[in-house]
Amino acid sequence: SAELRRAESLIRSIPDHPKPGVLFRDITPLLADAAALRATAEALVAPFAGRFDAVAGVEARGFLLAGAAAIASGAGLIPVRKAGKLPRPAAAEDYALEYGTATVEAHDDLPGGTRVLLLDDVLATGGTLVASRRLLERLGYEVAGVSVLFEIDGLGGRETIGDPALHTVFRS
Ligand code: IMP
Repeated sequence: SAELRRAESLIRSIPDHPKPGVLFRDITPLLADAAALRATAEALVAPFAGRFDAVAGVEARGFLLAGAAAIASGAGLIPVRKAGKLPRPAAAEDYALEYGTATVEAHDDLPGGTRVLLLDDVLATGGTLVASRRLLERLGYEVAGVSVLFEIDGLGGRETIGDPALHTVFRS
């Protein structure tokens, strides 16, 4: 739609952030625009309509989209947090970074079998979302799909996720 094309034009590309050679996609201009925020929140969830009960957003930018998407779709919200932030994590999942490892954690506030749509802002190598999906499955949730605002091509993220139910709104 014209609204989504305009939203896409609001994603800012920052060369050499956070380090030389990386082209960082900054979604804050899109978030700041009321119509673009609404259109992208709706586009994230539209392919999965009626097939999920909650959205899970990955810290930190995934939280922003998940809040909007939850309200837009009448779903609950599960924060997938980085290690050490939650008061009573029920599960943790480690994953490899370029240098070292990271951990995602979540609570088990919803019953097993709850259908969860996993959301994040940017798909790069896919490591973050694969770990987040495993985390949700470890909690007994049924992952209804993975939806991402911006897919960076050429880093293998789509292949790493390997899930036919991967939806991305924009890609480069
Ligand atoms: P991946 O695990 O390599 O797919 O990296 C994805 C994670 O890193 C997501 O949680 C993103 O928020 C973050 N990320 C990677 N590249 C970018 C970017 O260009 N802009 C914003 N976030 C990014």
